[in-house]
Amino acid sequence: MNPPDTAPPGTPRTVPCPACGGPSRYAPDNPFRPFCSARCRQHDLGAWASESFRVDARDDDGADQPVANSPPAPRFQQ
Ligand SMILES: [Zn+2]
Repeated sequence: MNPPDTAPPGTPRTVPCPACGGPSRYAPDNPFRPFCSARCRQHDLGAWASESFRVDARDDDGADQPVANSPPAPRFQQ
């Protein structure tokens, strides 16, 4: 019995888009990850702005999934 979400080797991991819930490819070539598209990412940024967060962080440095309520993560070497 295989888990239904097991992907073959070499296949980028797919995660649910936080904005629309659709499939989003969590791979370095997806600049909008974990979102599926620029539209979804902008939608989320709009929500952030309304919470008075003014962070100009960019998620394009190969970091893994963001972690909330966690001490500063060490820098992982890839
Ligand atoms: Zn989406």
